[in-house]
Amino acid sequence: MAEIRDEELRERTRALLEEVHPDDPAVDRVTFRGAQFDHGLGMVHFPEGRGGLGFQPKQQQVVNDELRLRTKTRYRDSIVNLIGIGMAAPTLLTYASEELQKRFLRPIFTGEEIWCQLFSEPGAGSDLAALGTRAERAGEEWLVNGQKVWTTLAHVSRFGMLLARTDPERPKHDGLSYFILDMQAPGVEVRPLHQITGEAEFNEVFLSDVRIPDDWMLGNEGQGWRVAITTLMNERVAIGGGEGVGRRKPIDHLLDIWKQRTESPTAARGSAARTAVQRDRVTQLWIESRLLEITSSRARTARRQGNPGPEGAVGKLTSAELTQRIYEACLDVLGSDGLAYAPGYELRRPSGISRDPQDAAMHWYLRSRAASIEGGTSQIMRNILGERILGLPSEPRVDKDRAWSALRKGDAE
Ligand SMILES: Cc1cc2nc3c(=O)[nH]c(=O)nc-3n(C[C@H](O)[C@H](O)[C@H](O)COP(=O)(O)OP(=O)(O)OC[C@H]3O[C@@H](n4cnc5c(N)ncnc54)[C@H](O)[C@@H]3O)c2cc1C
Repeated sequence: MAEIRDEELRERTRALLEEVHPDDPAVDRVTFRGAQFDHGLGMVHFPEGRGGLGFQPKQQQVVNDELRLRTKTRYRDSIVNLIGIGMAAPTLLTYASEELQKRFLRPIFTGEEIWCQLFSEPGAGSDLAALGTRAERAGEEWLVNGQKVWTTLAHVSRFGMLLARTDPERPKHDGLSYFILDMQAPGVEVRPLHQITGEAEFNEVFLSDVRIPDDWMLGNEGQGWRVAITTLMNERVAIGGGEGVGRRKPIDHLLDIWKQRTESPTAARGSAARTAVQRDRVTQLWIESRLLEITSSRARTARRQGNPGPEGAVGKLTSAELTQRIYEACLDVLGSDGLAYAPGYELRRPSGISRDPQDAAMHWYLRSRAASIEGGTSQIMRNILGERILGLPSEPRVDKDRAWSALRKGDAE
């Protein structure tokens, strides 16, 4: 049965390409991705009319393979709209009304509407449920006031996933609600934050009397934590797994550098000549990267079945730490050449997150420092693995049953 459907999917993909082909110079990215969505070939496990055909999640690979085989142009959409596709879409599919799904899913898939995630605050990162941004009911709307921080892509986003406190008198996890925020609404102010790389891919976001319609709440009032967990579990898989399509992996970067050193005349002269010890290190990192890819592929399958489990934390943790070790190796192999920065280094705001092969290893070495913080720190990943997979005793949670308003801020666990 599944095989018949696979063949049917291949036929449908070929029919799509006959109608509109990404290699045709007259066809831009939005046109092609829109047609792919309309044919149900964007996210085949989503329902008909919402980008899919109600097929098995793993069958998306059949479409992707067929596209790879028959096209030269590859759209790196998982990077352009990483948060929209990887996190907002699955959350909308689980919690939004059919009407909202029809409104939002297509432009997410085409990349016309970039999304961001407004969870973290200055006093609430790892302890996310301690957040204080307030949403108060005002008739048919909610009035939102507060501050978010580290909001990746907020400066180019059309919409955001917002977690806010709707009842300060409930314990911290119970008083939260989850909203779709229009980033162009009056009262939303986005200010850039510069990173060690010189880029400003994230921001502070200030919210002053921002109005959100009642029906833009996902899940019920007070259920925000549950909805946020869906987003966070998908985040770990999206970050840790790496969608892969057209994306250059850190290990490829290291292998390129390694190969170039053999051919480079400076390698023989310089202090960074290749050694047997380095060869052993590069081989070991390659093996670990392959293992991570295989584990991530299993986690992605679970996610496509609508069921991302705590296993996503394995990929997130391993990927963060491996990426850092790979870029450390890049710099060691490069020796003094590793100190070179990308040509034209300056403070800049990227319009998306790139993995440009031209960027210097130093850039990626610096960027990789964030890997063990973004999307949950490595310490928090270890806590999740300890508690939820190994079944170790959980951390003491003294504030679990107390009203958020009664907690001394900063002491919450
Ligand atoms: C590049 C980047 C992009 C980001 N993008 C976004 C985004 O788009 N949207 C968004 O909402 N957030 C985003 N974040 C924020 C990120 O999720 C938080 O920085 C992260 O969850 C850590 O929170 P914190 O910064 O408040 O650190 P804290 O929670 O203050 O942690 C400080 C240190 O204490 C450790 N620690 C804290 N609690 C425990 C514990 N219980 N057990 C053991 N150790 C603990 C942490 O591991 C860390 O080492 C981004 C961060 C980065 C670096």
